[in-house]
Amino acid sequence: MHTDPNCIFCKIVAGQIPARKAHEDDEFLVFHDVRPAAPVHLLLIPKHHVPSLAEVGDQDLPMLGRLLALAPRVAREQGLGGGFKLAVNTGRDGGQEVFHLHLHLLGGKGG
Ligand code: AMP
Ligand code: ZN
Repeated sequence: MHTDPNCIFCKIVAGQIPARKAHEDDEFLVFHDVRPAAPVHLLLIPKHHVPSLAEVGDQDLPMLGRLLALAPRVAREQGLGGGFKLAVNTGRDGGQEVFHLHLHLLGGKGG
């Protein structure tokens, strides 16, 4: 599995940095954002290192489909049956701070 030893999200995957996990399977990890922008604010990441949505290749397309499909499942588990928002900050001008692909899942009152 491709990892980047300097990447904070790879370190979370490796268990070197703690995170409040909401879901984990062989391919993905979901954890709570440390600076929540909504009552429920989760980050959904592939376990292998992909720097950004701008750098996905054809080989990543099945993973992207599964990642997107994971969002409503995790949302339901978090009590967000009524709906949620997804965001993918991409690139420096897109406000991306952590260069390991992630979906922001936001929900709850005011989310
Ligand atoms: P982005 O601007 O899309 O790259 O967002 C990165 C997000 O990661 C921000 O919302 C941060 O609050 C969040 N974040 C950074 N470090 C951690 C961490 N160690 N655990 C959980 N969330 C983090
Ligand atoms: Zn990474």
